[in-house]
Amino acid sequence: MEEFIRSNKRQLNYKRVLLVVVIIIIIILLAIFSIVIKHNHNKAEQMRIEATKKAEEEEIMKIAIETQKIEELKKEKQEEENATGIIYLTFDDGPTSDSTPQILDILKDRNIKATFFVLHYDENHEQFIKREKNEGHTIALHGYSHKYSEVYPSADTCLENFRKIKEQVYQTTGIESKIIRFPGGSSNIVSKKYCEGVMTELVTRVVDEGYRYFDWNVDSDDAGHAKTSQDIYNNVTSGIKPERNNVVLMHDFAGNHKTIEALNDIINWGLEQGYVFRRITEETPMVTHGVNN
Ligand SMILES: [Zn+2]
Repeated sequence: MEEFIRSNKRQLNYKRVLLVVVIIIIIILLAIFSIVIKHNHNKAEQMRIEATKKAEEEEIMKIAIETQKIEELKKEKQEEENATGIIYLTFDDGPTSDSTPQILDILKDRNIKATFFVLHYDENHEQFIKREKNEGHTIALHGYSHKYSEVYPSADTCLENFRKIKEQVYQTTGIESKIIRFPGGSSNIVSKKYCEGVMTELVTRVVDEGYRYFDWNVDSDDAGHAKTSQDIYNNVTSGIKPERNNVVLMHDFAGNHKTIEALNDIINWGLEQGYVFRRITEETPMVTHGVNN
């Protein structure tokens, strides 16, 4: 009997100890659990605060960039209003490894932005298109092909010719260019040989498709009769008129040294006369010829 009571007492003591141990373990676990939860909560809170802070900083940065852009545009507008007129230098038929880098070097040196109406190029020439983009010039579309027999059999072939070069420029730069110049200009009569009335149809269709087309009102004649840099200089400076948008036609074909040689003097003359130089953008009013076909 006594033995039985002792054994029972021992068992009771053992159970008590066990209970205490279990309670202690539960308390420890609860403590750990609450620390972990609190830690995670703090971590989540910190991450949330950091994300909010980052978003705020990005927003401030965006506003700063926008403000700077607006300020620059305002300054440009002001300069244009005070200027004798605007000169848009445009270079057709590139890129070429011979002329394009030389033209770009001069423009960079003079901090002047221009417009390049480009034709299909191979991968060796991609670098020049990228450079034109990186240095702030407008990459505009002249055509995948310049061969009139390929461009002007119909309005559709001409539109396809623009679509293909647009796609190539997009692949190289990520820019979807909407500024075009018809091979030969919108006033060309050579297209008559391939399709009667094609230019009349095209000038409205390109605009309907979202393009803006630009001819020129100053011809350097560097693809025509001009033989020397002096000829180019004379043609350009006598063609530029005050109080208007002067779109100057020049060429970026290989071996066009006379234009490259004249470029600095043309820029000097323009600045001395109080003109500003701009690149063509989608906001630039179209300068167009009358249609002859
Ligand atoms: Zn051309």
